[in-house]
Amino acid sequence: MQMILAHQIQLKPNAQQSEYFAKAAGTARFVYNWGLNRWQEFYAAGENPSAYRLKEEFNAIKREQFPWALDVTKCAAEQSFNDLGTAFSRFLKNLAGYPTWHKKGVKDSFYLSNDKFKLDGKKIRIPKLGWVKLTEHLRFTGKIMSATVRRIADRWFIAISVKIDAQDMLIPHKSHVEIGIDLGLKTLATLSDGNEFQAPKPLKRLERKLKRLQRRLSRKEKGSNNRYKARIQLARLYRKISNIRQDCLHKLTTFIAQNYEHVGMEDLNTSGMLKNHKLAKAISDVGFHEFKRQMTYKKLLYGGTLTLADRFYPSSKQCSICGHLKTDLTLADRIYQCKNCGLEMCRDLNAAVNLKPSTLGSRESNACGQNDRCIVAIATV
Ligand SMILES: [Zn+2]
Repeated sequence: MQMILAHQIQLKPNAQQSEYFAKAAGTARFVYNWGLNRWQEFYAAGENPSAYRLKEEFNAIKREQFPWALDVTKCAAEQSFNDLGTAFSRFLKNLAGYPTWHKKGVKDSFYLSNDKFKLDGKKIRIPKLGWVKLTEHLRFTGKIMSATVRRIADRWFIAISVKIDAQDMLIPHKSHVEIGIDLGLKTLATLSDGNEFQAPKPLKRLERKLKRLQRRLSRKEKGSNNRYKARIQLARLYRKISNIRQDCLHKLTTFIAQNYEHVGMEDLNTSGMLKNHKLAKAISDVGFHEFKRQMTYKKLLYGGTLTLADRFYPSSKQCSICGHLKTDLTLADRIYQCKNCGLEMCRDLNAAVNLKPSTLGSRESNACGQNDRCIVAIATV
């Protein structure tokens, strides 16, 4: 089983190198916008535009019209045409909206193909720039596929994509047991063996500060130096919140992936849930979607299986002992009481037991009433 994982590492550029990054990201943005404009002109003239055609045209005129594009890696410009092609094909397949202009300061980034950079410990060589320091070593071993340099707040990072053979990274499990995980808003994760994990809820704690910074930003005059400073402050806070959240989730998913061979959890339909705005903030705060993403790839890394239960599977309403369905369970009921067998159990723990892979397997064809919809995906190495 092979998969591609990206490791994002902070760069330590000097002033001249930072300038190069900004210039390369600027080139990528300019070329994207130039291509989008040409695409529309082609279309208006009744012609059939393509990323390849635009790239040819750009390369023919760049020396004369855009000589500064030659100062940075040619990947910066080339990838913009690929991105534009992808954006239009996603639009035509109804997967995304019509491509929009790239703005300065929003997602500043540029691409590097694997033949255009070289890693040596804690430094990386970038074309037309030379060696740039990294804050840490690349964590994965495998074939390096590509890299993207991007600005987050006022720092530069490089995300290096590596193709990994999962078998090479297998670590024996500390115990060969199965576990069901119930994710919640009160307790981030309740495991079927009674372990509980609380979310740090960084947004909640830093929310007031966030609101204050957002207000401050909106009061600053457009284009002013103060507005720029306020925007950087806000971006730093977002980064801090995101770091706290990521750190917590990584520790939790690594712990589970390493200690339990077979893992069962709900296949949370977070995009559907996010339409409910009240729930949305709390859910995005604890990062349910990110939890599932990490759990999936870590289960592939460490081996074993991940069983996802359909979101209609009644993990909360069902008695984990006798299978009786409690249809009148409300969100306020923190204790699950079964009328049929007399079970009294913490609501989240009952749900976690119902999500154990063996329970999911045995219920697949009976109690949940959805039959084959119970288990939607099983990842196995
Ligand atoms: Zn019961």
